[in-house]
Amino acid sequence: MIENTYFRKKILDFYSLNKRDFFWRREDLEPFQVMITELFLKKTKAETVDKYMYPVIIEYSSNIKLHRASYSEIFNKISRLGLGKQRTRGLKEISNYIHKNFNDNLPGEIESLLEIPHIGLYVTNATLCFGFNKRAPILDVNTSRIISRYFHIDNIKDLRDNKEIQDKTNEILPRKNFKEYNWGLLDFGALVCKTKPSCDKCPLTKKCVFFIKIASR
Ligand code: SF4
Repeated sequence: MIENTYFRKKILDFYSLNKRDFFWRREDLEPFQVMITELFLKKTKAETVDKYMYPVIIEYSSNIKLHRASYSEIFNKISRLGLGKQRTRGLKEISNYIHKNFNDNLPGEIESLLEIPHIGLYVTNATLCFGFNKRAPILDVNTSRIISRYFHIDNIKDLRDNKEIQDKTNEILPRKNFKEYNWGLLDFGALVCKTKPSCDKCPLTKKCVFFIKIASR
């Protein structure tokens, strides 16, 4: 489908020109470190996580290390992000689960990752894609908003629960370069197709249904 090909190419081009340089995009991180970072990113701005959390993921680079750490030790290290008690409890529950059920090894399959408490579909797919280098779609509120505007899938309360958006996100995900494409989609949602979109700076206007039908009038 022409719209899909155009969309993919524009997102990949956008990424190569505008990529944000965060520590979790380095190739040398372990899947476990990617998973912990994605958990932090769920409720904290990317810039804040980037500023404070690199030493934490180096310290807790494996489940064995996180599992050995005490509650207060973890709390002191992550409290700058906010939600310190809630997050520390969550990290302890995650590390206990991986220790008990997977012998301290983070599994690389969707079904097993989804069993782990506090992970959920977004972190699971982000861990599979960015940590294990597996083709997995990234569906959050920002990426759903882009897809819904560009393909004109509209008017639902929670975009992430919309089956049409989920199917479209899977369909357009490239077979190659899916990691760069997913990062590009996240950056595009943060920098251009925001809640209030900057259509004047957008490279997708030619085929974006939202722009053609609404924003350009
Ligand atoms: S044209 Fe506007 S609404 Fe469409 S993808 Fe670009 S920024 Fe988003």
